[in-house]
Amino acid sequence: MVDISTPIEFKQVEGKSLFLDPRKEYQLTEEKLQVRYDPLTGRTGHFVRLGAVKPQRLPIESYSNPEVKGFCPFCSDLRYRATPKFPEYIFPDGRLSKGEALLIPNLYPYDVYSAITIMATEHVVPLERLNEKILLDSFSIGVAFLKRIKSIDPSLPYHLMDWNYMPPSGGGLVHPHQQCFATQFPGNQVTDEMRCSKAFYKKHGVNYWKELVRIEQQRDKRYIGSTNSSHWLASFVSLGVLGEIIGIFPDVYSIDDFNEAHISELASGIRRIFSYYVDKNIFSFNTSLFFGPQDQEFFSAHFRIIPRTFLNTRDHASDLCFYQALHQEPVCVVMPEVMCKEVRAYFTGKN
Ligand SMILES: [Zn+2]
Repeated sequence: MVDISTPIEFKQVEGKSLFLDPRKEYQLTEEKLQVRYDPLTGRTGHFVRLGAVKPQRLPIESYSNPEVKGFCPFCSDLRYRATPKFPEYIFPDGRLSKGEALLIPNLYPYDVYSAITIMATEHVVPLERLNEKILLDSFSIGVAFLKRIKSIDPSLPYHLMDWNYMPPSGGGLVHPHQQCFATQFPGNQVTDEMRCSKAFYKKHGVNYWKELVRIEQQRDKRYIGSTNSSHWLASFVSLGVLGEIIGIFPDVYSIDDFNEAHISELASGIRRIFSYYVDKNIFSFNTSLFFGPQDQEFFSAHFRIIPRTFLNTRDHASDLCFYQALHQEPVCVVMPEVMCKEVRAYFTGKN
């Protein structure tokens, strides 16, 4: 018999809203909704108006036209002439490079150590062309940067890698680039996760993230698949309006544990998700890769990815509204269990 007992609680509350629907001659109509509690942090998320938001097609190829493009410091040799360099004590050559990827300091730093990885030489790289090589090289130099910072300033406990891709995500330049930080202040999400992961470990004697993978794999509702040691799930509470996928590296705790094999597993998982996104006409996303402090075994490294879209391309309404911005409440129109079934096919095939 399969053991499905677990200290992790997946709590949800159903609700419905009644109104007289003008589309149905004002018949009494009910719209279902659901509120879920994040099983780690207890923070809630709303699932509403399922299917109400559709990803909008972006005019990707037109972004290269000179009248649209404007000045891009990441293009051509400007990436060497118009971007900053690190002081010699960090990198003697000033920058890090691998393949097409080039890592530079952020001219507008978000934190004490703040880098940008220019991922490719091309200004516009559609999802189909964001291949495994580009991902591997970009993540490799990002990880190398964070490891280097950790060695020169071990007092900063958190290491993060983020990515805004295309305008709906908040990306200021369409030229693909990632952000890397070493910080004492990893943001409210990670701070909550850290505190609750520690409490969970203390109370139950197991790592939450390993237990989450175990129970999701057994229950088979939100478990998408694995790429060797990494496990990919549809999040029970989605931080994005069109769903969220989380990739967990159960045995990786701090940046120093993250090796080339893990980077390769990460790139493989992301490529599979990109294939799914292409088929779903998703053109934009945010990602985050979180690493905890060293000398702990309760917070495993994990990667989050959410699609982003304009609500429409007529006036470019954002998919972030008062709910997320002011109530700090995620709203999602895609059920994780439904999305999971769709994405699973991309993890079993050779996408
Ligand atoms: Zn460019």
